[in-house]
Amino acid sequence: MNGRVERAFALSLWRAAGIFGVALLLGAVAGGLAWWLFAAAAGQLAELFWRLRRYGLWLQSGSRRSDEGGALWGALYRIPALRQRRELARRRRLVQLLRAFRTTAAALPDATVVLDGGGAILWFNAAATRLLGLSYPHDIGGHFSNLVRSPRVTRWLESGDWSESLMDVPAPVDDAVRLGLRIIPYAQGQRLLVARDMSKLMQLEQVRRDFVANVSHELRTPLTVVHGYLDLIEPDQSPELEPILLELRSQSRRMTQIVEDLLTLSRLEAQDSLPEERVAMAGMLQTLRREAEALSLGRHAISIALRTDVDLNGSPKELHSAFSNLVSNAVRYTPAGGRIEIRWELRDGQPVFSVSDTGQGIAPSHLPRVTERFYRVSSSRSRDTGGTGLGLSIVKHVLQLHQARLAIESEVGVGSTFSCIFGAERVCAATASEEI
Ligand code: ADP
Repeated sequence: MNGRVERAFALSLWRAAGIFGVALLLGAVAGGLAWWLFAAAAGQLAELFWRLRRYGLWLQSGSRRSDEGGALWGALYRIPALRQRRELARRRRLVQLLRAFRTTAAALPDATVVLDGGGAILWFNAAATRLLGLSYPHDIGGHFSNLVRSPRVTRWLESGDWSESLMDVPAPVDDAVRLGLRIIPYAQGQRLLVARDMSKLMQLEQVRRDFVANVSHELRTPLTVVHGYLDLIEPDQSPELEPILLELRSQSRRMTQIVEDLLTLSRLEAQDSLPEERVAMAGMLQTLRREAEALSLGRHAISIALRTDVDLNGSPKELHSAFSNLVSNAVRYTPAGGRIEIRWELRDGQPVFSVSDTGQGIAPSHLPRVTERFYRVSSSRSRDTGGTGLGLSIVKHVLQLHQARLAIESEVGVGSTFSCIFGAERVCAATASEEI
């Protein structure tokens, strides 16, 4: 476009120069040069104003056609038209892209719903009708939580924290269909809600859980028998059997513990919530200290720090199981002479149970995985200390059932602190008699 305007401009300059040349010639021949030059300049200026006015009116009218033939003005008239054509082509491409995107989203097997900042439905695909029962156009503009009608979904939608998917949501159209919901926030407060049919995966997960629970259950009885007989055998006749018998007893004890831990995990996984009551934390800390001392056999300095007199609302049995796993880990992974502190405190209004030790610590690369089943930083060390590899998994599950989280701070060779951080709503204020 630049080149064309430049050329037209040069042509116009030549034309003006020609007109002034003729004026000069006429002035020289007929006399009155100044008048001829003045007439030429005035003519040029008048033409310029006239054309500018026409151009302004033409621009204002928004018309695309022009009958302007002059080189410079023709080029100027073509500029907006050219721009308009490009804009139109760009818009057409955008519309095509949008259509292609919508067609793709509409064909997705997952229910896809576009929500505005307030949770109102702006658009949804065909799978959303099948899985979520949304109907077009009736549900456009409606609130998603009103249509799905599940307090869990409403709470999750309102929480604003959608980093994790919401699993195992019964589909509004059929309770047997289990959905996994995800929210992806994008431009200007809009969110994309994706619901996937997870029924098959859930069934498989259930089969896995049942299998582990059944196997553990079936192993329990034979193991009890083996364990019982091993305890009865006295190697009086052949003393060389003594070390073998000791090893057999230790391994059968370990197997029994693994089976018990697997059963605990299966039981925890099968539950959505636990019966709750007031858990007296002062008593809990005393019990944990006694257990730690029994395990340590005087090899560690064990202390408790009760920094608040509030109690915790939760399941005493499961919480004890989680806390004692943390305490037993601290004892098992801290060399003799180390210190262990069991703490109960309020941090910014949140109740926190923590166990600190001066043990071997865990390298940062292992930290994200230590709560996985059977994950061990060092298998030999874990076996030597009698670990099953399931302790921290149990802790994680118990905390999940209390909507709490586990925080681990650790430094190799310095020690570790495992903290169970509960929500402030779990605080049970100290009773009047306790305060006195
Ligand atoms: P295990 O039965 O092997 O102790 P856990 O699930 O309780 O299984 O712990 C997983 C791994 O985390 C352990 O094998 C150990 O390496 C590491 N670990 C747990 N607690 C501590 C701790 N207090 N200090 C150092 N390492 C620990």
